[in-house]
Amino acid sequence: MHRLTVLPGDGIGPEVVREAIEVLNTVASKFNLEFETEEALMGGCAIDAAGTPLPETTLELCRTGDAVLLGAIGGPKWDTTDPDKPRPEQGLLGLRKGLELFANLRPVKVFDALIESSTLKPEVIHDVDLVVVRELTGGLYFGASAREGDRAYDTLDYQAYEVERLMKVAFELAEKRRGVVHSVDKANVLESSRLWRQTAGATGAGYPDVELNHMLVDNCAMQLIRNPKQFDVIATENLFGDILSDEASMLTGSLGMLASASLGERYPGLYEPIHGSAPDIAGQDVANPIATILSVALMLRYSFDLETPALAIEGAVEAVLAGGFRTADIMSEGKTMVGTVQMGDVIRRAIEG
Ligand code: NAD
Repeated sequence: MHRLTVLPGDGIGPEVVREAIEVLNTVASKFNLEFETEEALMGGCAIDAAGTPLPETTLELCRTGDAVLLGAIGGPKWDTTDPDKPRPEQGLLGLRKGLELFANLRPVKVFDALIESSTLKPEVIHDVDLVVVRELTGGLYFGASAREGDRAYDTLDYQAYEVERLMKVAFELAEKRRGVVHSVDKANVLESSRLWRQTAGATGAGYPDVELNHMLVDNCAMQLIRNPKQFDVIATENLFGDILSDEASMLTGSLGMLASASLGERYPGLYEPIHGSAPDIAGQDVANPIATILSVALMLRYSFDLETPALAIEGAVEAVLAGGFRTADIMSEGKTMVGTVQMGDVIRRAIEG
C-alpha cells in the first residue's frame, strides 16, 4: 500500500489532478497495486480556509505519507504587494523547505507527434530525452544577500555535502538511463564552481559506469539549442538550473506537457506539473492534464520504483498523441480536439489496452 498526499491547489489544479488520480487508479487495477490518497489544502484555497498557504496539518500529512502530488497554486484573487498578507507561493517554498527537497528533476522528452510545435528544427530535437537536475535549497538563491544604500549583493555559497548529495541523485539517475552526466558550472570564474567541479569529480569516482563531463554554463546554454541530443542528465547549481531547465523545457514547445519531481532524503518526494494555475482557462474543461499525468509516472518511478506502470502511462500518452488527440494548447490542423476530462479518458483507455 502506497500513501499519497494530494494537493489540488487553485485554478486548473483540481481539474488536472482529478484526471491524474483517475489515471493512477487505472494503473493500480491493471498492475494490482494499492494506493491510498488523502487530499489537503495548499495555496490560495488554504489562505481562504485557514488564513495560511501551508497549514501545519498539510505539511504533517505530506511528511508522513509516501509521496506528494501537487496541481498548481495561485491566482489573481490572492495577488498582493502587501508584505504582511499571505501569498500562495509561500506555501510552495514552505513545502520544499519543510520536505527538505534539494533536488529538482525536470525531464524533457520530445514526443514525435508534437515535434512541429517546437520552435527548433525537427532534426535537432527528434529523440531528445534529457533530465535537468537542479540544486534547489542552496546556491545563489539562499546565500547571504543584502541592500546597503546604492549597493546590493547576493552570495553563491555551497558546502561540499550539498553538492555531493545532488550529484549522487544525478549519477543514480544516469545509471538507470544512458549513463552520461554533464555537471554544469562556471569554474573558470567562480570559486564555488571550483568546489562544485571538484566534488562532482570525487562523487563520480563512486559511479564508474557513468561518464562525467564538466561543462561551463554559458556553453551549456548554447549546446542545448545547438545539439540537445548530446545530453542525458544535466546537474547544476540552483540559479543555473532555474534558467537551463526553462530553456530545456521549451525544446518541446508546450507548457502543458512538462512534469517535474523534487526529491530529498528524509521526506517523501513532491511531483507536480511545471505550469501554473492558469486562471485564464480554469473551470472550462480545456486545460491539458498531461503534465500532471506524467508527474504521476515520475512518482511511480522515483518514489515507488514501479518502472513498468510508469512506462505504461508514458506509452499511453505517446499513443494518444500519435492517435491525433489534442487539448487546445497543443491543437493543430487535422487533429481531434478534446477537453481535460476527455484527454484523461483516452489516456486511461490506452492504458487498459
Ligand atoms: P501559467 O503556467 O499558469 O499559465 C501560462 C499560460 O499557459 C496561460 O495562458 C495558461 O492558460 C497556459 N497554460 C498553463 N498550463 C496549461 C495547461 N495545463 N493546459 C493548457 N494551457 C496551460 O503561468 P502564469 O499565468 O504566469 O501564472 C498564473 C498563476 O499561477 C499565478 O498566480 C502564478 O503565481 C501561479 N504559478 C504557480 C506555479 C505552481 O503552482 N508551481 C507555477 C507557476 C505559476
